[in-house]
Amino acid sequence: MDFQREYARDLAAWLENFAEELKEGSAKADKDVAEKAEGLLYMLSQRKILDPSFLRQLEKEAEHLYSHYVHRRNAGEQIERKIVQSETARVPVGGHKLPELPYSYGALEPYIDRRIMELHHSKHHQSYVDGLNKAEKELQKQRNNRKFELIKHWKRELAFNGAGHYLHTLFWNAMSPKGGGEPAGALARQINKDFSNFSTFKLQFSEAAKNVEGGGWSVLVWQSQAGRLEILTAEKHQNLSQWDVIPVLPLDVWEHAYYLQYENDRGGYVNNWWNVVNWPWAEARFSKVKDI
Ligand code: FE
Repeated sequence: MDFQREYARDLAAWLENFAEELKEGSAKADKDVAEKAEGLLYMLSQRKILDPSFLRQLEKEAEHLYSHYVHRRNAGEQIERKIVQSETARVPVGGHKLPELPYSYGALEPYIDRRIMELHHSKHHQSYVDGLNKAEKELQKQRNNRKFELIKHWKRELAFNGAGHYLHTLFWNAMSPKGGGEPAGALARQINKDFSNFSTFKLQFSEAAKNVEGGGWSVLVWQSQAGRLEILTAEKHQNLSQWDVIPVLPLDVWEHAYYLQYENDRGGYVNNWWNVVNWPWAEARFSKVKDI
């Protein structure tokens, strides 16, 4: 029941944001969609019993509304800037490609030199792409044989090169020759809410970046559980994560999660854990994130 309530709360928050966002636009069609979203929100608020089929139906209608809106918006709008393709494309195992930059190497001058951009993109980013493809293919081979040799090594390679590839792909899109200034819309509102104002956000982001030890990143992130923006830094960047992923199913293997019962038998704990996995929760979570 808690899960359904949580699910309904998320759905309501999504509908509310969606409607709010649409009402900012001037198009009549946007306002109509906003009204429909508010209608769904009203239905949800009036519902006494949150049974799964009602929630599924409501989610389906919300999805329908959203895809209709996206379709109309894309059809009516000239896309102003080319977005790096592999940010959204589905990629087969070992099939990552170096994305084209959405501008020329010299386009960010005088702020970022042409030579830096060329080396950064054509050499550094390329090596992440190659390393990621190799790690993915190697792991696929091991899955096929059901034998996981050097799993630690390949997981490290997967994280290091995957983080490098995904973060750089985001990074190229995060810059533009027409960039600068301040954000607008929902992002600006959320920044003001979570950091008081834009200048404090900018100061914290810059300080975080300047104080990363060695190589790394400063990243503005959305904390979906807290519903807040935060700034995180990634030293180096690999630490076994790829930074463009959304956890679907976590398993805690810190000793505090099993030691009192299993002592040093982590394997026994892992094997038994499969008996308590909440698949409907993971399924619902996956269905929400898979289109991001
Ligand atoms: Fe880099």
